[in-house]
Amino acid sequence: MTEKMMMPKADKLMAVKGMNDLLPPDSAAVEWLEHKVRALMARYAYRNIRTPIVERTPLFVRGLGEVTDIVEKEMYCFEDRLNGDALALRPEATAGVVRAAIEHAMLYDGPKRLYYLGPMFRHERPQKGRYRQFDQIGAEALGFSGAEVDAELILMAAALWHEIGISDVRLEINSLGQPVERLAHRQALVAYFEQHQAVLDEDARRRLYNNPLRILDTKNPHLQDIVEAAPQLLDFLGTDSLTHFQTLKSILEANGVAYRVNPRLVRGMDYYNLTVFEFVTDRLGSQGTVCAGGRYDYLFEQLGGKPSPAVGWALGVDRVLDLARACGFAPVNPVPDAYVIVADVAAMPMVLSVLQNVRALGVTVQMHTSTAEGMGSMKSQFKRADSSGARFALVFGADEVSSQQVTIKPLRFAGATQTTYPLADLASWVPNLQSGV
Ligand code: ATP
Ligand code: MG
Repeated sequence: MTEKMMMPKADKLMAVKGMNDLLPPDSAAVEWLEHKVRALMARYAYRNIRTPIVERTPLFVRGLGEVTDIVEKEMYCFEDRLNGDALALRPEATAGVVRAAIEHAMLYDGPKRLYYLGPMFRHERPQKGRYRQFDQIGAEALGFSGAEVDAELILMAAALWHEIGISDVRLEINSLGQPVERLAHRQALVAYFEQHQAVLDEDARRRLYNNPLRILDTKNPHLQDIVEAAPQLLDFLGTDSLTHFQTLKSILEANGVAYRVNPRLVRGMDYYNLTVFEFVTDRLGSQGTVCAGGRYDYLFEQLGGKPSPAVGWALGVDRVLDLARACGFAPVNPVPDAYVIVADVAAMPMVLSVLQNVRALGVTVQMHTSTAEGMGSMKSQFKRADSSGARFALVFGADEVSSQQVTIKPLRFAGATQTTYPLADLASWVPNLQSGV
C-alpha cells in the first residue's frame, strides 16, 4: 500500500466565523475599488502608508478609549507566547498610523496627507455588512488644524461616491467641540441621565459616570427617546469651535455638498474633537454607515507624541461595494484576449516561450494545458476557447508548428476569417489580438 492510501480521511477545515474568503469574481470588485481609491488619493496628494496588523494592546486602549465598544468588547487580544507582550489585531488603523507618525517623526518637516487600505478585526456578531475581519480604506491628514482640511477630506469622499456611481448616500456632520466644552456638556448630561436612571440599560448605567457621551451612541431602540431629548453639545460650544464648524459648513455649501447637522453623532472612539461626520445610506439595512471620520487633535499627545492636530476618515470596503452594487455597479468578468490551442504536447517548450513574448507585449493569454491523456482533441480545445470568453483562438496545430507559424482564429465576430502568420514576426500578428477584429 502506498503512503497516500493509508492516510485517514481528514476533516474539512473551515474559515473562522465572520472572516470570509474573497473569491473571484467578487475579488475583482475590491480590486476595482482599490484602483479607484489609489487614483483618487493621488489626485488629492495623499500618500500610502502601511502599518502592521498587530500592535501593542495599550495603543488601542489609550488611543480609542477604555470605555468604548471596540476596546471593551470587540478587540482580538492575545499574549505573545515568547515574551508575554500584550498584543492585539488592529480594530482600526488611525491609532497605528499616529503611532508610526510619532515613532518616525514624520511631521518634522511639515504636515502629511496619508491613506491606507487593509484588514481590520473586531469581534462582533457577524451579519450582512458586519464581519470580524473586514477591509477598510482610510485617509488621515496629520498636522493640519484648519477646517479646510476637514472639508477637503469630505469632498474627497464625495468625489469617490460620484466616481463609483454611488448616489444614495447622505452626509451627517456634528461638532464635538473641545475638551473643556465637553466637560460642561458632560455635567449637564450626567444630571439629565440621573433623572432617567430607571429606564437606562446596563451599558448606559455603567457609562453614566465614566463616559456619558457614549450613551448617545447607544444602539438600544428603547433609549432613543431619552437620548433624543438629552442636552446637546452644540449648545455648549465656544466661539472658536463654532467658527471651525461654520467654516466647514460654508465650504461644503460652496461645493454643493448637502449635509445634515446631527447633534447626536458622537462616533465610537474617544479620540475625536471638533468635526465628526458619517456618510449614511438607507439601502443597506441597519449597517448603513459606509464611511466615518473626524478630527482628533489630541491623539498625538495621548500616544506620547508632540501635540499635532489631525483629521481623517475610514470607509468600509464591503459596505461601499454593497452600496455601489445597489446603485447598479456590476464587476466586469475579465476575459483573456486569446485562448491558446496546442495540438501536440511536444510543442509546449516552444509555445510557452512564444507566449512569454506575447504577454510581455500586454496581451492577456490563457493556455490550454495537458492532462494524463494528452492535450485533448482540437474540437474540445476549441470548446474551451469558446467558454473562456476569449476573443481569439491562437492555434498551434501540427502544420503551424512544423512551418514555424501560428493561426489566429476570431471567435466572436460573425464572418471573420482565420489568418496564419510567421511566428517569429511578432509585430505582424500580436497587435491583432488586442484589436477588435
Ligand atoms: P458601526 O456603527 O456600523 O459599528 P463603527 O462606528 O464601529 O460602525 P468605524 O469604526 O467608524 O465604524 O469604521 C468605519 C467604517 O468601517 C464603518 O462606517 C463601516 O463602513 C466599516 N465597518 C466598521 N465595522 C465593520 C465591521 N465589523 N464589518 C464591516 N465593516 C465595518
Ligand atoms: Mg462598530
